[in-house]
Amino acid sequence: MIHNPEIECMSREDMRKLQSERLIKTVKTCYDKVPFYRRKMDELGVKPEDIKSIDDINKLPFTTKHDLRDEYPFGLQAVPMTDVRRIHASSGTTGKPVVDTYTDNDIANWSEGVARVLAAGNVGHGDIVQVAYGYGLFTGGLGAHDGANKRGAVQLPISAGNSEKQIMLMKDFGTSVLCCTPSYALHLAECIEKSDKVNIEDLKLRVGFFGAEPWTEGMRKELEDKLRIKAIDIYGLTEMSGPGVGGECECQNGTHLWEDMFFPEIINPDTLEPVAPGEFGELVFTSLCKEAMPILRYRTRDLTRLIYEPCKCGRTAVRMDRILGRSDDMMIIRGVNVFPSQIETVLTEFPTYTPYYFITVDRKNNEDTFDLDVELREEFYSPNPAKQMPFIKPLYDRIVSLVGIKPNIHILPPGSIERSTGKAKHVNDKRVFKN
Ligand SMILES: [Zn+2]
Repeated sequence: MIHNPEIECMSREDMRKLQSERLIKTVKTCYDKVPFYRRKMDELGVKPEDIKSIDDINKLPFTTKHDLRDEYPFGLQAVPMTDVRRIHASSGTTGKPVVDTYTDNDIANWSEGVARVLAAGNVGHGDIVQVAYGYGLFTGGLGAHDGANKRGAVQLPISAGNSEKQIMLMKDFGTSVLCCTPSYALHLAECIEKSDKVNIEDLKLRVGFFGAEPWTEGMRKELEDKLRIKAIDIYGLTEMSGPGVGGECECQNGTHLWEDMFFPEIINPDTLEPVAPGEFGELVFTSLCKEAMPILRYRTRDLTRLIYEPCKCGRTAVRMDRILGRSDDMMIIRGVNVFPSQIETVLTEFPTYTPYYFITVDRKNNEDTFDLDVELREEFYSPNPAKQMPFIKPLYDRIVSLVGIKPNIHILPPGSIERSTGKAKHVNDKRVFKN
């Protein structure tokens, strides 16, 4: 089912026209109302009147996560607080969170984006939508909630956690739609398997919308088999409102992006130039409808490609391929943001360790694993594991307290971790490419 055929199936030509109109307006607002963008555009010698169509987008400055942190909390806001109705923020474990603010229209457009994704799973009147994303500053809970409301479905705002209650209500209320992270969905599936009170045959679940973390085809198959549902990817990011920047359709062959609201580009992260159509690179978004906090050319760091061939579902909206990884180093392990530089910081606090390390992340039995190879200095090193133990414990404790995640630490002889003369490779994230 298509929620908004007029937009989702619009001809490419009409879409370009709509995008052009909206970009011109957005750029003017940014220049007139946001000192940060006026400064950036002045530095590049670009004036709002230089932007005549969407083809001029590459004249505009980029915005990075660093910029958002510098302008924390409301430096990028283009409207007075009297026009704002809501504030959300990402859960940053390092530094300040990323803030997004919303006018009434912003909330309506956000709901529209989520509703389009839900419609692909035929969500509508009578459906009971169990929203098991966290409610709060995080955009997942309220985002899915408002989208379900827009589709006329019943919202069950249970939020994340309390799995036993989740599956009890799923059975008692006849939940037909589940919204949560894919890893939490898998956890719920395992709880159902183990439960002596709830049987999968008792449930009316038919479709799930999973997002907020990358997941693979293997994960999809497992979720679909275990929960006996269709599993649909919903994509989004706080900087562009939240979930519902795009989503999969019934064909499950890429994520349609709602490019009437969020204009996507793919750039080469080193040269910052656009890549050839269909090539992989870094995904960049410009908001075309946001009023409270418009964003020009936001560098997501997500590596993917855009597919412009028409989709069998009838939607003309461009599709995004699976996200291959990130162009910077941040990892999300068991839901926690981890930067390799944090490990380096910890190691340098200990006189017993060299600063060389290597991280291996994988997923086993649906849980992320975090293995850390480190080297003891020559004078402390012994191949005898019993003699290594007194050194492992304080390092382990320090990582748990600073990073918030429990590592499996492996001590290697000094000199065995590869020394790089260029950009060092510190991480092997095996989760991303595995299917
Ligand atoms: Zn499609």
